[in-house]
Amino acid sequence: MKIKTKPLIFKTLNSLYCYDDSTKNVFPINEIEKDFIEHIQPNQEFTADNPNLSAITNKIERLGLFQKNLISEIPIEDELRNYKLKNGITHLCLILTEACDFRCKYCIYSDNYFYTNSYSSKKMSFDVAKRAIDFYVNINMKAIRYNPNKRFTIGFYGGEPTLCHLTIMKIVEYIKVECPFIWDNITLDLSQYLGHDL
Ligand code: SF4
Repeated sequence: MKIKTKPLIFKTLNSLYCYDDSTKNVFPINEIEKDFIEHIQPNQEFTADNPNLSAITNKIERLGLFQKNLISEIPIEDELRNYKLKNGITHLCLILTEACDFRCKYCIYSDNYFYTNSYSSKKMSFDVAKRAIDFYVNINMKAIRYNPNKRFTIGFYGGEPTLCHLTIMKIVEYIKVECPFIWDNITLDLSQYLGHDL
């Protein structure tokens, strides 16, 4: 039996996991399995005769884990450039603030996650938002030549974006005045503002 790609191992507070990018499977592993997975090299033959490893070797065989070499599938720079030219960028998401007046348990800014930011009073300035919009519009105006029905979508996200309602109003005004050519073709995405005159 052989594997062709290098498995990715990661740890949470109480458990060890392995991720296989080619099948998108994540599964728990123990320390013995971790040692095995860490030391096995792509294209190296291994057997399934160690009883401590039968669970992991069965899984590799049954699910066909670590068999696809994704490296050859990574798009080259020209392909990415062409894709961007033809498709533009689907959605611009402006994270206006990390502040919020709620404390939902599942919130990405809560202390329940290790690798995300915490609540803060940071707010995006209008100038930064304007530069992001100019960048987004500029790229999509090129893409519109390939797809005249292309829609523009700008989302306001946080934290609680309505804490920045003045910036939102300024952004909407800016798009209306400076980018009138996209005004009929835009979705402004902020559910809290439904029913208001954006
Ligand atoms: S940002 Fe959203 S999820 Fe987080 S506390 Fe506020 S309302 Fe809840």
